[in-house]
Amino acid sequence: MSNTSITATRNAEFFNFIDGTYRPGSSGSTFENRCPVDGSLVGSIHEASAEDVNDAVSAAKAALDGPWGAMTIAERSDMLYAIADEIDRRSDEFLAAEVADTGKPVTLASHIDIPRGAANFRVFADAVKNVPGEFFDMATPDGTGAINYALRSPKGVIGVICPWNLPLLLMTWKVGPALACGNAVVVKPSEETPATATLLGEVMNTVGVPKGVYNVVHGFGPGSAGEFLTTHPDVDAITFTGETRTGEAIMKAAAVGVRDVSLEMGGKNPAIIFADADMDAAIEGTMRSVFANCGQVCLGTERVYVERSVFEEFVSRLAAEANGLKLGEPNDTSTQLGPLISEEHRQKVLSYYERAVEEGATVVIGGGIPAMEGALVGGAWVEPTIWTGLADDASPVTDEIFGPCCHIRPFDTEEEVIALGNDTPYGLAAAVWTQNASRAHRVASKLNVGLCWVNSWFLRDLRTPFGGMKASGIGREGGVHSLEFYTETTNVCIKL
Ligand code: NAD
Repeated sequence: MSNTSITATRNAEFFNFIDGTYRPGSSGSTFENRCPVDGSLVGSIHEASAEDVNDAVSAAKAALDGPWGAMTIAERSDMLYAIADEIDRRSDEFLAAEVADTGKPVTLASHIDIPRGAANFRVFADAVKNVPGEFFDMATPDGTGAINYALRSPKGVIGVICPWNLPLLLMTWKVGPALACGNAVVVKPSEETPATATLLGEVMNTVGVPKGVYNVVHGFGPGSAGEFLTTHPDVDAITFTGETRTGEAIMKAAAVGVRDVSLEMGGKNPAIIFADADMDAAIEGTMRSVFANCGQVCLGTERVYVERSVFEEFVSRLAAEANGLKLGEPNDTSTQLGPLISEEHRQKVLSYYERAVEEGATVVIGGGIPAMEGALVGGAWVEPTIWTGLADDASPVTDEIFGPCCHIRPFDTEEEVIALGNDTPYGLAAAVWTQNASRAHRVASKLNVGLCWVNSWFLRDLRTPFGGMKASGIGREGGVHSLEFYTETTNVCIKL
């Protein structure tokens, strides 16, 4: 047992957090957490058994019947603000934990991952206080009338299954609204990134969140904590972010007992650059959308379509910028690109680098493993890579790679590029670059995506709907959309 600080220094131990207490898995099984920067051991993760997951779900259920269930919205909101403040106060620890797990540059994690982790509690504390209720005044044949109003109640125990690319940010994006609505959660962080979810348990205890409201169980998917959680009959709803095929398995598990699901899944997102775009802005935005977080962002661009008259200029400018990206230690503030999450993921990305060549690509830049020095040789590094010349059905153009790479293709007409943009099983995000507002509106309305940015990328107002169409997901998160998922509605009809 341990209640000591998890500071993501070497030899850390990542315990499950169940009913307000840190504890190892009952089976005694542990697995390694390695840092992708150099392959060094961060620490060991205590895998939760089916019994541990059951304990976590039972603790969550009990919390709903305890003081947590009795709190007013105002009291819960105050608690969420306190959680956010405590994350801010300990932001250096969260930053160190996230960087050790992911290898992402501190400049990125300190601007995006950690502050958004705190903001996710504040925004839903505000949302839940301000969401109006539904009311209908109804005429009846006898003339006395009736009134209808909708009551909202928490759904219950929410299973939260998280990916590794933005661990704290994406986990709190679910836990924030779930708690705001009065639910209790059992979180299963990615096996690659256990640290910040574990650390958040300390925050919950510090600010006085009742035990059992927030639980963390560690492990893998099939045959491990992920499966134990999603098949547990007392889990009332499941919210998931990750790969589409995992989402399909989770949806099947959720069908038993008819549990609700929110699925945020993969993408193969287009960026469309018209000749009338502000080229400096388009290059700057596309650099971020392709290479931020080493290309491991669900909203990131992997297909770039450029109007033919500016194609050569765009390719050479993007290649020049990408060639200048500085790979290196995450704590070096001049580092712009970190490693991929793991050696296993590097093998996947490199397999696409090989297939691109086999399928006829022109490799504009990159395509291999960069020459790193010293300890970094042991890390999961790949070169930023740009291709041209692939067919529309080549695998690097159709499959989500989730690496720092893109294919750039010329187009001639608006209709053509809309068809190209939509030619994918996915429907998550798009970025359109043009100074013609009518065209921007026209194209945005015809792209089958949940999020369309015009002349920007990853500009997020957390009150707006977030999610994907087609194989990219089911449901929307953000603002009142999250509150819809995390609550049940009861219509009360009173005959007067
Ligand atoms: P993943 O699907 O491999 O794993 C996600 C989580 O699911 C992990 O915690 C894993 O242990 C768990 N899991 C795996 N199999 C399971 C099963 N059968 N039952 C229950 N849980 C199971 O995804 P990943 O590799 O961690 O993340 C990368 C993927 O996530 C990419 O496809 C990316 O596009 C997607 N993603 C989507 C969004 C979005 O908002 N749409 C955001 C970030 C990442």
